[in-house]
Formats: sequence, structure tokens, C-alpha cells
Amino acid sequence: MNIVSDPKSITAGGLLSSEVNQAAALAAATAAANGVLTIDLDAIVANWRKLEKSAVPAECAGVIKADAYGCGADAVARALAAAGCKTFFVATLDEARAARAILLAAATIYVLDGFFQNCGEAFAKIDCKPVIGDLNELAEWDVFCRRSGWAGGAAIHIDTGMNRLGLTLGEAQGIIPRINAGDHGITLVMSHLACAESLNHPLNARQLAAFRDIASLFSGVPASLSNSSGIFLGSQFQFDLVRPGAALYGINPTPEADNPMQSVVELKARIVQIRNVEKGESVGYGGTWTARRPTRLAIVSAGYADGYFRAGSSNDGTRGAEVVIAGKRCPIAGRVSMDLIAVDVTDLEKNAARRGHMATLIGEGITVDELAHHFGTIGYEVMTSLGSRYARIYKSGEAAPETASPATAAG
Ligand SMILES: *Cc1c(COP(=O)(O)O)cnc(C)c1O
Repeated sequence: MNIVSDPKSITAGGLLSSEVNQAAALAAATAAANGVLTIDLDAIVANWRKLEKSAVPAECAGVIKADAYGCGADAVARALAAAGCKTFFVATLDEARAARAILLAAATIYVLDGFFQNCGEAFAKIDCKPVIGDLNELAEWDVFCRRSGWAGGAAIHIDTGMNRLGLTLGEAQGIIPRINAGDHGITLVMSHLACAESLNHPLNARQLAAFRDIASLFSGVPASLSNSSGIFLGSQFQFDLVRPGAALYGINPTPEADNPMQSVVELKARIVQIRNVEKGESVGYGGTWTARRPTRLAIVSAGYADGYFRAGSSNDGTRGAEVVIAGKRCPIAGRVSMDLIAVDVTDLEKNAARRGHMATLIGEGITVDELAHHFGTIGYEVMTSLGSRYARIYKSGEAAPETASPATAAG
């Protein structure tokens, strides 16, 4: 099934439409780029299919908020829709608008951050559904629906232990008579797990029990509890719809075990200089790293402004992150700066690291999760911080072989 809208709309998303232009633009973009971010759309689709299979008979949605976790919401929405994904979650109305421009009318779009007073028309205009998590919000939505006659539907979010968004269990109980009276327009009842990535966390079972009880009272309304990690907690967590985000993009949804997902992003950045440093000299801001031997450095064109966190820095006491140059792992020397990192390539064969070559920051065994560990954060934050200066390449065997964004490449 194809619920992707006219491919011409792709051009509006910054992608070229003609294959000839694509190949030329790609070559030009990567030849001149300081950094190249490759996003494997086939891997995202394969990840979605894997999650979908493990959740059957539940439906598998796609969470594409935050520009599809940095991967590009337009390209990801298009690829997932072509693969058969029918329900999408975004965080904001703006994101919903962008998604609707890509997705045909048959696709359902939920807005996780919900409904504000006076934006009913905006929801109706693009036919998307707010996820309502507060009684005032519900009342405002009801007023809008009554006055406008809009019957596009909404989800009810119930809090079962996260204490972020959602009606309390008591509030949810209170609206049930009205919901069950029919014509309520509620198309989904959902909750969100707080600790799903820890298999044995006691909150999982408590949230499951609470959600099962309350959801069963919403007769005939589909229910949804699980994010990526929740899907791996077992079929009892899957209900009628699952909402994976992170796992689609290759982040490990089961951090206590091997990653069952395919990796999606590869990040390379250009070596802009090779320099030699005497023993005893310091490297970078603050002089925090000292050469303990005559050292060869590769200066690589990516830094914290590109989402390569400063927390990946090393100093005389601690190792930092690593990059792969000429097939070998090499440590970062000194502080990560805004646009550059210094990499110790002394252990490589002479001339293996050269000016103009690319260093691999993500890929060749360096996973997003590993990098996140070095940065003192999680894969989600690494992905959503991926910089805007990289040339972006989308790999997909289904459409044209590859597409590049010349606008991004020029930056
Ligand atoms: C972001 C989000 C998801 C997706 O979570 P992942 O851990 O990325 O799979 C699902 N549901 C809600 C309510 C969310 O906010």
C-alpha cells in the first residue's frame, strides 16, 4: 500500500526529484563536505518491520517527533508510509503540519504534546489528532468539537506512574461514562512507560496492571502502552498499538542485552590537517592533554556545534571518545571544540591518516549508544543533536539509490 503523497512534495523537503541531479548533487555534496551524515532508510524500514512482526496482532506506529530523532522526518515518514505504517506520532502541531504535507490523508497523525485552546482549527485543517492528557484540555477540545462540528478524533493519555502527561487514574475513571455513551471521538487510550528499558524494573508491572484495568473500561477504544523498549517486555505490554521511536533509528531498546536493531546512521568528518606535536606539548583549549611521546594528530572537522558533545573530550587523566581513521580506532586528544576535534593517530601507519580523508565518528563499530556513553548521555540525545552542517545522504534501495540535500551540503 502506498499512502505517500505526490513525490513532487519531496522537493519541498529539500530533496531533489531527478535521479540524474541526485547523483551529481551527491557527488558534489560529499566531495566538498566537511561532514557527511548517511541515513539508511532501508534500515529504518527493516527495523519497523521487525517491530511490527514482534507486535502482531497489535498495530505498529512510527514515532517521528524531533525530525525523526534527527534522521529527517520527511524522508522517514515517506519510507515508513511506503512500508505500510499507517499511524504516526509527532510532538507538536508544527511537526504534524510537516508530516501531513508528506503523508496522504489516510495516515493518522497524533500530536503527543496535545491541544492548546484556540488551536482547534489548526488541528482540523490538517486532520490530526491531539493526545489529550488533562481535563481542562479535554474540555477545551470538546468545546471546539461541539462548535465546529469537527469529529476528527483525539487520544486520551492516562498517567500510570510517569507523572509527566496524562489524566490521573481517578480523572480517567470520571470520564468513562461519557466516553462509553458513544460519539465521543476518542480513537485511542494510551499511557507511557517510565522504565521500560530496565527489564526487571518494578514500575513496569505496576504500570501494566494500572493501564490494563483502566483501558479495559474504555469499551471499544484501542489501547496503547509501549514505546520501543516496552515492545520487548512481552506481548502483554503491546495492547492494540505500539509506538516505537528510538528502535526505528537503531538505538538499542534493550540496553541490558545486545542490540536487536540495525544501525541507521553513519557519520564521517573530514581530516583538515595533520600535525606533529613534540613530547610534552599540550593540545587544545585549556591544555588539558599532554603528548607523552612525539605525537601525530589528525584535526577533524566536527565539534560540539555539530552534536559531537564536549563531554567526549579527553585529558591527561581520562580517555575520551574514539573515532575510526583508516580502519583503526584512534582516541580524541584534548578538548572537543566547537568545530574541530584533535585525534591521536600516532599508532597508525605513517601516511595512513591524510588531510582530506574522512574520519568515522559513528559507524565502523562505533554505535550511537557507545558515543552516548562517552558523552555521558543516551543515544536519543546524540541522535536529536546531530548537527545541521553535515551533508545528508539518504540510502534507500526502493526509491532512487541515494538523495542528497544540496542546501545542507552547502553549509
Ligand atoms: C517519544 C515517545 C515514544 C517513543 O519512545 P521511544 O522510547 O523512542 O520508542 C512513545 N510514546 C510517547 C508518549 C513518547 O513521548
